[in-house]
Amino acid sequence: MPTSTLSHPAFTRIPPWVQSKLTPIAISKITAVYDFVENECIPLEPIMKSQISSPSSRWTTQPLMHELREKAKAAGLFNLFLPKHFKESPGLTNLEYACCAEIMGRVYWAQQTMNCHAPETGNIELLAKYCTPAQKKKWLQPLLDGTASSAYSMTEPDVASSDATQIGCRITREGDEYVINGRKLYGNCIWNSENKFYILMGLSDPENPNKWNRHSTVIVPTSTPGITQVRNLTIMGYDHAPEGHGEYVYKDVRVPVENIILGEGRAFEIAQGRLGPGRIHHCMRLIGQCERAYELALIRCIDTRKTPRGKSIGSFDSNIERIAQMRLEIDQARLVVLNAADTMDKHGNKAGRYAIAQSKILIPNMATRVIDECMQLYGGQGLTQHTPLPEMWTYARFVRIADGPDSAHRHQVGRDELKTAEKFLERNKEYRRKYLKAAKEMGVEVETFHGVTPDV
Ligand SMILES: Cc1cc2nc3c(=O)[nH]c(=O)nc-3n(C[C@H](O)[C@H](O)[C@H](O)COP(=O)(O)OP(=O)(O)OC[C@H]3O[C@@H](n4cnc5c(N)ncnc54)[C@H](O)[C@@H]3O)c2cc1C
Repeated sequence: MPTSTLSHPAFTRIPPWVQSKLTPIAISKITAVYDFVENECIPLEPIMKSQISSPSSRWTTQPLMHELREKAKAAGLFNLFLPKHFKESPGLTNLEYACCAEIMGRVYWAQQTMNCHAPETGNIELLAKYCTPAQKKKWLQPLLDGTASSAYSMTEPDVASSDATQIGCRITREGDEYVINGRKLYGNCIWNSENKFYILMGLSDPENPNKWNRHSTVIVPTSTPGITQVRNLTIMGYDHAPEGHGEYVYKDVRVPVENIILGEGRAFEIAQGRLGPGRIHHCMRLIGQCERAYELALIRCIDTRKTPRGKSIGSFDSNIERIAQMRLEIDQARLVVLNAADTMDKHGNKAGRYAIAQSKILIPNMATRVIDECMQLYGGQGLTQHTPLPEMWTYARFVRIADGPDSAHRHQVGRDELKTAEKFLERNKEYRRKYLKAAKEMGVEVETFHGVTPDV
């Protein structure tokens, strides 16, 4: 069978309308990503895990990860997420990369082997979009080359960070330096020596009457004196080593003024530009995880050792229904995310806002439901380290909050939708006017409805 055609298994789940848009380069990359994940990543899952099991190496990136990153880079699979309008891009659209991201999601660390992992993806896109050529050379190039890694530092413990206008970590200019003081949650651990800098959002102009212009974004090298990692934050019991999620105190941390991105007061512009594509990547990876969880559940359904009441698990009607429901939900979710990616390609990230929010709300919720059902079909072992299901569920659960809670996105969608009500009111008045006119012309008695205004 030819390896770079749409008959390759990499394209099995890609809908025809997307297949018809794929360029030859995308077809070859999607095929290569599939082969890399199937042959180099999934079979080595236990080895990757064993390389971080000892306490002494817990915060050191695994040798196998380095090896696989070299292989992926040599195979031209690095940075595929960076959309083709960037000059640093390998040439895929958001839609084409979304197909790759689903495949990468089959094992949660595969994204990192191809330098397509969060928060690096968002940071690379931010630096590519907003930095000066000198800043790009210093900060962006090492990330693109995979010789350094970075983290994003916005969230704080003492405010509602989903409303980023509340961010309070102070950035104060003193001569040729910015001085930073505050406390931050999340952002990959400083304990991993490959993490070279934080992209930090802080409050630089608290008196500015426009709340959207009070904040700035600066680059803070992890080696800067004054940053302390207080602890690692576990996520539902997982420490997510060797990258983790730190809690930090910034005390009189000084960086040169040239570390500011775009200029003082421009943090919101930057944050908006950063988050859209990253949300789509998370969603497509979750769909890949769901496919893998679903496959494990199917295998359990035909396991001849597991025959409650003398029947395979998959022969119970209730489980046949469950399988069907999961299939339908995963396939419908994929359409939603691919539509968001296509909208971003055609009309830009801003115009894709609704479609991105739609994905961010629907997909993590779908994934927690589907993976939960898979664990249930699997039985007790499905909740243990014998399967990747608990880690998958945790990932889906945390994406309901990371990059903005789904409730905040629903709030935004609901508010925007309510703004359309006036338009529908006008439309309905027009129906009524036409009805009254027609009734008069036809000599029909006009109906009145209880509780309905005469106009509508
Ligand atoms: C695993 C993980 C990784 C993360 N990585 C990073 C990172 O790398 N860098 C970083 O800076 N942050 C990171 N975060 C933090 C994340 O972005 C924030 O937790 C998130 O933005 C919410 O902020 P908050 O925790 O302050 O919750 P709050 O803002 O206090 O919100 C709490 C709850 O209030 C409700 N709520 C909030 N707004 C609304 C609304 N408009 N309508 C209705 N209900 C609402 C929701 O239920 C919400 O969950 C990460 C979080 C997780 C879990």
